[in-house]
Amino acid sequence: MEKRPRLRFLAGREDAGSTPDPAAPKFGEISKRNITTLMGQSYFIECQKCDYKSKEITTGVGFLFGNINDILQILKGNDKKTVQLLKHRKQIHTHYSRGYSLYQCSDCHSLENKSHLNLYNQQGDLVFQTDSYCRSCQKAREYMPEDSDNETIPDLCCPKCHQQDLRVLPGILWD
Ligand SMILES: [Zn+2]
Ligand SMILES: [Zn+2]
Repeated sequence: MEKRPRLRFLAGREDAGSTPDPAAPKFGEISKRNITTLMGQSYFIECQKCDYKSKEITTGVGFLFGNINDILQILKGNDKKTVQLLKHRKQIHTHYSRGYSLYQCSDCHSLENKSHLNLYNQQGDLVFQTDSYCRSCQKAREYMPEDSDNETIPDLCCPKCHQQDLRVLPGILWD
């Protein structure tokens, strides 16, 4: 469900009609802490065969971004530029996100934890999707869904020793 952003006007512009000022102050600024609260969960991955321990990984099952401005806060690099351009061209109609996701390269087993996002235009065509690209293997990393009932990530391999003997340790939990 798309939440309609509230449009704000610069002071002195209220009488300028109903056209929103593009330079109006940004709404929906959210801090990293708020993002984590919305997503609900973070964890670490530890290898039982070697000394590998991951950085803190965040996941967001069912986490939906409120609006495009919130999304832009989270995106980085080229993803951010592309979405800014699509927004500028008014090509974004709806968005779908499963929040932060974990991706692994099936060749070198490198990991990336990044936010997932699909954007669709008025016609319902996919105009943008985030992907995790492994530069050394020149291929897209695969999405690794977590099994939250068993607190594990099926088929995940250690990025260091490449064995499938990983333990998931809970990070900071937010209710
Ligand atoms: Zn790779
Ligand atoms: Zn290992």
